[in-house]
Amino acid sequence: MTAQRIDGKAFAATVREKVAGHVARLKEENDIIPGLAVVLVGEDPASQVYVRSKGKQTTEVGMNSYEHKLDVETSEADLLALIDQLNNDAKVHGILVQLPLPKHLNENLVINAIDPAKDVDGFHISNVGLLGTGQKSMVPCTPLGCLMMLRDHHGSLSGMEAVVIGRSNIVGKPMAQLLLGDSCTVTIAHSRTKDLPEVVRRADIVVAAVGRPEMVPGDWIKQGATVIDVGINRIERDGKTKLVGDVDFASCSESAGAITPVPGGVGPMTIACLLANTVTACCRANDVAEPEGLTA
Ligand code: NAD
Repeated sequence: MTAQRIDGKAFAATVREKVAGHVARLKEENDIIPGLAVVLVGEDPASQVYVRSKGKQTTEVGMNSYEHKLDVETSEADLLALIDQLNNDAKVHGILVQLPLPKHLNENLVINAIDPAKDVDGFHISNVGLLGTGQKSMVPCTPLGCLMMLRDHHGSLSGMEAVVIGRSNIVGKPMAQLLLGDSCTVTIAHSRTKDLPEVVRRADIVVAAVGRPEMVPGDWIKQGATVIDVGINRIERDGKTKLVGDVDFASCSESAGAITPVPGGVGPMTIACLLANTVTACCRANDVAEPEGLTA
């Protein structure tokens, strides 16, 4: 079998189109412009690229983008004061603090200082609890993007065996909660899992979020399974730098029924879901009907 390629780039474009349509309606019918504030502390090159890309895509869908670039030495008190100001700013519907933060800042403290209703990354402890108990929450962007692609491909996920490899707070755990919410039978595998190949072979859906280049070979994948590759790993091959995922795309394509490529799979969906979360947060804040299909 040669797997169908799930085109995250094209799907992300349709999500952005939906968001843009809703933003236009909010402007026309309610005189509201959704606004996203992104806070970057320091000059980490990868974070700078992400923040620039987020700002550009935010304005492209018609929303306001507010960028706050702070010095690497910024104190926790100053950062918390900025978050407080953004929490109280009615023009700001979403707040994202770009991670990782410099070592002297307590990430949990900072994230939990964001108003949960504006926490478009879905990392605030209240949103984690709401998601875990099946209540309406802000959902972390990367797993939300994975869920959207899976629903689009399969329709219902009910009763499917899902294996999530990785138990991080930003991808693995929320991904497992979302799959459980869609009635999958979910296993979370991690670095201490015994006989990982056998666990993965059970899965109708495999989500790999590990951060190890091409660690999942094709013979771990059940015939016809759907493989969602979250990993983004930079490797040197044939003297060139290349981006690869956590699964070996070539061999997994032989056994899977469908698979996301890297790049062009989960990656583009993450920012699209950030925009979706911002418009959702704006609708909730203003008691306006939420767009359909943009939340979990
Ligand atoms: P993380 O380092 O926080 O977590 C990795 C997880 O993998 C851990 O829970 C660990 O237990 C597990 N693990 C490590 N070695 C393992 C092994 N040998 N077998 C099984 N499990 C193992 O990473 P993260 O933040 O969840 O990110 C994972 C990957 O996803 C990274 O490559 C990251 O760059 C990528 N990522 C991509 C996006 C996107 O937008 N596409 C977003 C977030 C993260």
